Amino acid sequence: MRKTEELWGVFAARHAEAVYEAAERREKIYKENPALPELDRKITDAGARYCLALAGEGEADAIKEELTALQKQKEEFLAAIGADLEPHFACSLCQDTGMAEEGMCECFRRERIAENFRFSNLEQALTEQSFENFDWSLFSDEAQGKLLSPRENMKKIYTLCKEFVEHFDHIRENLLFVGATGLGKTYLSTAVAKALLEKGKSVIYISAPEFVRRLEDLRFKDDKTDLEQFFTADLLILDDLGTENTTAYTMATLADIIDQRLRTGRKILFSTNLNLDGIQKAYDERVVSRLLGNFFYCYFYGEDLRIKAFKEGK
Ligand SMILES: [Zn+2]
Repeated sequence: MRKTEELWGVFAARHAEAVYEAAERREKIYKENPALPELDRKITDAGARYCLALAGEGEADAIKEELTALQKQKEEFLAAIGADLEPHFACSLCQDTGMAEEGMCECFRRERIAENFRFSNLEQALTEQSFENFDWSLFSDEAQGKLLSPRENMKKIYTLCKEFVEHFDHIRENLLFVGATGLGKTYLSTAVAKALLEKGKSVIYISAPEFVRRLEDLRFKDDKTDLEQFFTADLLILDDLGTENTTAYTMATLADIIDQRLRTGRKILFSTNLNLDGIQKAYDERVVSRLLGNFFYCYFYGEDLRIKAFKEGK
């Protein structure tokens, strides 16, 4: 992932490139049209005389007229040969510097978000899954012996997730989504990821089996940049915890990642089909104790939404 500082560098280079390209283009046009350097010489000369006239006496008006006429002549000449001497910036607001009058340019903000999206592994298709598009009608409002109906329970979790996003920089706890498949865990994880990406945060979204595969791939590589992202992204989302084949190495690395993230205040969202007992059996104590001590436990229950949606023809 590119860090924000690196993106500033990209913008600076882009600006410089446009300026350089314009200079080269200008040089070529000037070589092909000797009238242009001649006109420039006359304009410079008239400009100098105009300054002198302003400082001294008389004639300034006449020289100014001459200067304007020369400038107009140059413009017309350029128009006649169809020449363009200006740098071609992608963004006219900031001239590709990323900084506009009122601070960070919109184009820079957009690019940073796009960069974060690419880095997050979030598929574009999933981005429909937002807080706004949440479909409450899929959740039953019958308590069925529980304290809260699935819909009420979901409202609690939904609110918690929205607060997690809103106070992301200050909140201490992480999120642990627990519950069977098809109850909205992935949907809400995606909504959280998407909302944070739009706030300019870096998010990695990865399933636990894919995560373990990546750790094994990176294990013997010298370049640790790809590994580093799991430690340093603002939010790490590990989906489907418990479905991966762990080894001593991946277990230890996972524990290291959790530890360092907790220490540096970087957030984690885990989701799992396992219950507490299952988690305790699947992971070593180091991982389990971190999970129990530093996570909001969100328990999803109710009817499988995919089956329900299918039945209702949604
Ligand atoms: Zn811009």
